[in-house]
Amino acid sequence: MFDKSTWIRLPRNVVVGKGVRSRFLEVVDDLHLRGRPLFVTSPTPRSIAAEPIAADLEAAGIDPAVVTVERASFEAVEEVIETAEAEEVTYLVGIGGGKAIDIAKMASHHLEMGFCSVPTAASHDGIVSNRGSVPDGDTRHSVAAEPPLAVVADTELLADAPWELTTAGCADIISNYTAVMDWRLAHRLKNVEYSGFAGALAEMTAEILVDNADHVRPGLEESAWIVTKALVSSGVAMSIAGSSRPASGAEHLFSHQLDRLEPGTALHGHQVGVGSIMTAYLHDGERGIWQDIRSRSIASTRRRPRPNSVSTTRPS
Ligand SMILES: [Zn+2]
Repeated sequence: MFDKSTWIRLPRNVVVGKGVRSRFLEVVDDLHLRGRPLFVTSPTPRSIAAEPIAADLEAAGIDPAVVTVERASFEAVEEVIETAEAEEVTYLVGIGGGKAIDIAKMASHHLEMGFCSVPTAASHDGIVSNRGSVPDGDTRHSVAAEPPLAVVADTELLADAPWELTTAGCADIISNYTAVMDWRLAHRLKNVEYSGFAGALAEMTAEILVDNADHVRPGLEESAWIVTKALVSSGVAMSIAGSSRPASGAEHLFSHQLDRLEPGTALHGHQVGVGSIMTAYLHDGERGIWQDIRSRSIASTRRRPRPNSVSTTRPS
């Protein structure tokens, strides 16, 4: 007898491209979000993104509350919740890298409020997903959170972010290869539920990124475009699966252990990239998929910033 059901929660509006931060108000209107927002941001994103967006809203008679978080922690989530209650806001907006977005996402989940994501770095797939990750003492918690109602990803801002954040985002996407291998193995050995649609989407996302690796260059908006769309696609795969399985396997567990042993030493994406090479080796040993992942990861992360470099062919 058929008794399955699924509830797929996706972002309603995903707006990516040049200067789209100036369309934030339009996006909010389209979602029928009313009242006062709380911007959750960190110091640099505050000046480059949160303040200009706040100015646009103020011109339209909306006065956003703003909270700046210095680091990701459960105390920061608490602080955001308290501010949201004190300022009587009606929805939250995470503006920044992973930290501000993760905190806003978890606080909005607790407050049962809508949440929008305005990433200023394409550094990991948390900009879209319904999972939040926060360090707590010597461990890191991945917790259920609110998926964004909207993602507004301005390629001008993303291309200006430090290059290593973009390469970390690339490695987080490449790790989909081993995440899906692990997921299939778990399905085979432990009968963990596997979604062919989500698995295929996660793998295809990694494949498209690798195919476009030549277009991923420092300071180029085309690069930010490719990486951000891949991060969105990975997030959609997780939403379809209803879990982080399509984009998170043993390579992520390896990264969480590194966070435990040597917190703050390397970026999440780079850690999972290394973990992905190792777990691919454990899967296939001599068949060489791990070498393939290693060469692809190195190809996309070795390039040093070349401020005047120009891409001659445009990615689609
Ligand atoms: Zn990740």
